[in-house]
Amino acid sequence: MRIRILGTAAGGGLPQWNCGCAGCATARHTGAVRSQDCLAISGDGSAWYLVNASPDLRTQLLAAPELAPAPGSRATPLHGVLLTSGELDHTLGLLTLREAAGLSVHASAPVRAALHGAFPVGPLLAPYTGARWHTVVPGRAVELAGGLVAEPLALGGKRPRYAADLPVPPEGERTDWVTGYRFTGPDGRARAVYAPGLAAWTPAVDRAVADADVVILDGTFATDDELARHTGGARTSRGMGHLPVADSLPHLARRPGPRYLYTHLNNTNPLAHRDSPEAAALAPALAAAGAAVAEDGTVLDL
Ligand SMILES: [Zn+2]
Repeated sequence: MRIRILGTAAGGGLPQWNCGCAGCATARHTGAVRSQDCLAISGDGSAWYLVNASPDLRTQLLAAPELAPAPGSRATPLHGVLLTSGELDHTLGLLTLREAAGLSVHASAPVRAALHGAFPVGPLLAPYTGARWHTVVPGRAVELAGGLVAEPLALGGKRPRYAADLPVPPEGERTDWVTGYRFTGPDGRARAVYAPGLAAWTPAVDRAVADADVVILDGTFATDDELARHTGGARTSRGMGHLPVADSLPHLARRPGPRYLYTHLNNTNPLAHRDSPEAAALAPALAAAGAAVAEDGTVLDL
């Protein structure tokens, strides 16, 4: 199994185009930028899948030699996309893929419905490429090309803001707006978990990480009140469906073994800023739990 981490920032990236805060200004000045959360994964090194399609996708694809088309052809190794949410920072890149000869898109039922309704990417893509849409159901494994198997994990019910007014499903119906995936390679041994939006540390998450080689997880905010302190607003990390790093670290420490990498870092998160004194101060606590911050372009061979 080979993984290429394409992007590690939350929505808007780092720096955000309209933000002049100290962190964004430093990133602008030093070039220590982060593109928006996205991952490429392959079971056999030939057939590749994206997990999420970020607004930065074109640049991310061009920076990934594994995803280049074969010489002299328009055949690309990219087979499809698995979505972890319907958020704009995870789905806008689907429009960038409109030139594909064909594409499979895997999404949970509410996300798939939203992408054919409130944000109609599905109907918009249809005249350009033959996209085949598949519904993922937590706990039901999906067999992909190259021997890759993806087991969807239910990670939360937070809707994208554009879908806030959609009808509430009847009691008991699934509301899997946020999904993670546990990937298994062709030999059945290599295991990776990708959970860029983690609302809570559930028993299912605990089981999924137990025997994983690598876990790439939600590092949007370092602490619950981080955004409120930066903006003077009232929104908390947990309220936005993101378990802060301070609250997931104890779980990581309790589950040693996997290599833990935090991703989907917001521009307010001190960990997003490489070489900053704040990130350096947090590094020992991360290292003690077997964790580090994910970086754009990192390749993991499992
Ligand atoms: Zn900023």
